[in-house]
Formats: sequence, structure tokens, C-alpha cells
Amino acid sequence: MSKYCANCGRPNDDAVRFCSECGHEFEVETNVGPSFGGAFFSCLANYCKIGGRATRAEYWGWLVVYGIISALFAGAAVAIQQRGLSSDYLKWTLNGCAVWCGLTLIPGLAVAARRLHDSNKTGWRVWIPGLFAAAGCVAVVYYMTNGTFKLDADLIVDQARDFKKLLAGVDDWATFKALGKSVQAALACWALAGLSGLLLAIRLCFVPGSKEENRYGVKQVNP
Ligand SMILES: [Zn+2]
Repeated sequence: MSKYCANCGRPNDDAVRFCSECGHEFEVETNVGPSFGGAFFSCLANYCKIGGRATRAEYWGWLVVYGIISALFAGAAVAIQQRGLSSDYLKWTLNGCAVWCGLTLIPGLAVAARRLHDSNKTGWRVWIPGLFAAAGCVAVVYYMTNGTFKLDADLIVDQARDFKKLLAGVDDWATFKALGKSVQAALACWALAGLSGLLLAIRLCFVPGSKEENRYGVKQVNP
């Protein structure tokens, strides 16, 4: 008994939505979420916050700033190479890009998990494309080491050259079928990684969450 009806003053249990005396509806807690413009900084402030929900506006606000800065790094790297500038510049740009990717990895995964929570889905889904990609890499390592998983630099260099040649030769179903099992497995895993990544990106960017309270948070205005 800890909340009081605004209409008749009767104490009611915390969990009830309507007053047991007069039927007055208690106000439901709602969440508005950060605006598009403030989203990037709120995502940084919520660096590791996986709990709770993120609206589409918050996700887009994060994505646009992230995309612009990443594109600036990529553009700088291309420009430095095309103009034949000192390779020091390229090194600094790539180091800066690595720092940027490292710093934004965790808050990026966290806001994606919160965005999934918005439609009452588990945040673990953000790992699905990564798991497929990692499985593909295991298949490649299997191929590169002839199934031994032992580090033999000469063998790996040879096999890597083969692998590149094999990939370049794949242009239809028949050439794919002629590949070895481990190469096929790698390509299939990477295709699944790409497909699941695309589906995830569409969900994160475009699918509205539920307006109602769900197991991850209170009611959401403009989910
Ligand atoms: Zn009442």
C-alpha cells in the first residue's frame, strides 16, 4: 500500500492500475527518450547501458554522427593515398580510425541492444551476424591449416594464396559446388552474416517498438 488515489485519496497497492475504491486510473510512467540531436552524447553517457529501451530517433541520432565521423576517416585515408602524401599521414589516420572504432564499439552495441528491447526482443540478437562471421573465419582457419589448426606460417601463406584464387573463381553455382567443403562453409557463413546483418540493420533503423510497457522498460512515447 504505497500509492494514493488522486481522486478519492484511498491507498492502493503499487501494482494496480485502477483505484479499488473509485476506479480512477493511475498515471502510467512513460519514457520520452533523448532527441535525435542529443542521442549521440546520451549514447556515450550510457556507455555500457544495455538495460532499458532506445527509440528509433535515438538510434538514428547515434548512427548519423557515427557514420559521418567514420566516413571522414575513410575519406581522409583515400585522399592521402590518391595524393601520394607521406605514409605517416595514412598511419595517423588509420590509428585514429582504430581508436574511434574501439571507443564506439561498446556504446554502439549497447544502443542496438536497447533498440531491440524497444520491440521486446532480446538484445543478444546483436551478436547473430558476428557469430556467423566468426564461424566463417573458423572455417577459413581450418582451410588455411589443412584441418590441423596448427600455426605453420609457410602453409598458411600458400593456402591463403589458394583461397584468394578460389574466391576469385566463384561466379556461379557450378563453381561454388566444385569448391572444397571448408571453403563452401566459410562462404555460406559469411553470406548468412551479411543477410542477418542486413535484417538486423533494417529492424534497428525502421521497425517501431511497442508503445506499451514491456519487460525491458516503461511505456515509450514515439518508440
Ligand atoms: Zn480512488
